[in-house]
Amino acid sequence: MTQHETQETGPGTQEPLTTDVLIIGAGPTGLMLAVCLQRLGVRFLLADRKHGPTRESRALALQARSLEIYDQLGLVQRVLAQAALAPAIAPGFRDTPLATVSFGSLGKGVTPFPGIHILEQSRNERLLVAALEERGDPVLWGHGLRGLEQHDRGVTAHLETDDRVVRRVDARFLIGADGASSAVRELSGIPFDGVTNPDTFYVADARAVTGLVDDAVNLRFSADDFLLTFPQGAVGHHRLIGVVRTPEGEGVTEEATRSTLSREFGVAYGDSTWFSTYRVHHRVAGRFRSGAVFLAGDAAHVHSPVGAQGMNTGLQDAHHLACALAEVLLGGSGDERLDRYEAERRPVALRLVRTTDRLFSAVTADSSFARTLRAAVLPRVLPLLAPILGRVLPRVARRARLFEYVSQIRIHYWMTPDARRRAGGRRGRLIGRRLAWNEDNFAVLRSMDWQVHVYGDSDEQSLDRMRRESRMPVHQFGTVRNPRLAGGLAVLVRPDGFVLDTRRLPASVADWAVHAPRGRDVSEPPPPRD
Ligand SMILES: Cc1cc2nc3c(=O)[nH]c(=O)nc-3n(C[C@H](O)[C@H](O)[C@H](O)COP(=O)(O)OP(=O)(O)OC[C@H]3O[C@@H](n4cnc5c(N)ncnc54)[C@H](O)[C@@H]3O)c2cc1C
Repeated sequence: MTQHETQETGPGTQEPLTTDVLIIGAGPTGLMLAVCLQRLGVRFLLADRKHGPTRESRALALQARSLEIYDQLGLVQRVLAQAALAPAIAPGFRDTPLATVSFGSLGKGVTPFPGIHILEQSRNERLLVAALEERGDPVLWGHGLRGLEQHDRGVTAHLETDDRVVRRVDARFLIGADGASSAVRELSGIPFDGVTNPDTFYVADARAVTGLVDDAVNLRFSADDFLLTFPQGAVGHHRLIGVVRTPEGEGVTEEATRSTLSREFGVAYGDSTWFSTYRVHHRVAGRFRSGAVFLAGDAAHVHSPVGAQGMNTGLQDAHHLACALAEVLLGGSGDERLDRYEAERRPVALRLVRTTDRLFSAVTADSSFARTLRAAVLPRVLPLLAPILGRVLPRVARRARLFEYVSQIRIHYWMTPDARRRAGGRRGRLIGRRLAWNEDNFAVLRSMDWQVHVYGDSDEQSLDRMRRESRMPVHQFGTVRNPRLAGGLAVLVRPDGFVLDTRRLPASVADWAVHAPRGRDVSEPPPPRD
């Protein structure tokens, strides 16, 4: 399917393009947005000033919620075929690991994708590009955004090619998925408030690494530094992340990093396939929406790599926004549906940035108190704690709640403007959260539509009545395996898999029909894709 239309213009100019959604930036966020829109049947165009996916590994971890989204898109088998499971975490002090805690059962029973998967950003990007191309929607590479104007029909954007040809694109909506230095954000006058961490960080994808627990995520402290490592598949291959304290403006070389690693942690490596240094920012855009323009991913929020949340948060912004856009462009929902994007995703970003900022400040603090703590207290206390850590950490790791936070499946949204007031400020176990997994209830989410789930036994007559009342597909799951769900419960599920409402049966669900897409007979659920 051609996703945009061209018009004839005079000689010497590139013809303008028209589309419903123009996405600027084909990083993980823009690519995921495009794949979701493709699956939902929305016309879009995706442009990037680069000439292909990133060659750098960059983000590594793929959290369970991201895998659930890949599953909904019918792509999870391709992801799993390339991804590796992070087996354990090994905290330590200087050159000594203090315990090795298996990630073995982390998340079992709460998601079809337990554990923490490692699949580097460049491979995620290639996989998404391939999915787009397979269905006839290639990325418009080599097109950089130069200007945009909003008007009553939407947005006109000006894209410039390498040979300085400017191309006009008219779109109903424009999405800035163009990274931390977003031109869309700047052209829209949206502030990006926050702080820049004073230290310089390095990342190295290193081979023939010695001095680490090989098959684990290593977290090491010393009086002056910290080191976080991720295994990268082959023996001795690790991503190394750390801080280098340098005088203002002084660069960090790989050689200086090697000597820090050796001195502080007894770690050495042969060569690296990627070495980079960067400053960490903690910032959130003042708005995620300005009229017909939206921000997503790093364009909307940036934070430290602690917790491996960056790419995953962008993937989820994209999925959320695509579902909202489809409801407005194809489902007949009003424009206010799009306000839910900022209302729901910005608080998630604010909380994430606050948490990672605090964590990072604690880990990298350079005050005399922090240095004394690391130099004098930790070396004495940590070895004494080692045997206890070995017993306590596995128990902590097994707790579902910790996993749910890290894997981003515990995210909560206030899903209507008055939801918080109506709930008295108390977050529910089901409403406002991603649907609890019941082992058999995720396959039907692949249709990416509004739907009603009935848990426990119910007769055909009641199910038919609910179909007529709600004007949505109704799916029944006789056996209730997840303790968050209960027999005799009807659940209203949004296309992004989040629960908007629940009701004990028998009950009328006629008021849920306001969410049913207009003009579509949904009494027969569409078959799952892929
Ligand atoms: C050195 C480094 C290491 C990192 N390590 C980690 C990590 O370990 N874990 C983690 O979770 N995250 C990490 N991150 C962050 C992670 O890479 C980002 O969160 C993620 O890339 C965000 O994806 P995005 O699609 O929103 O933005 P980006 O990946 O930045 O993609 C933006 C895209 O927009 C394009 N673009 C920009 N401007 C324009 C324009 N004017 N016109 C057209 N196209 C444009 C760019 O070419 C790019 O392709 C790291 C980042 C860096 C820089």
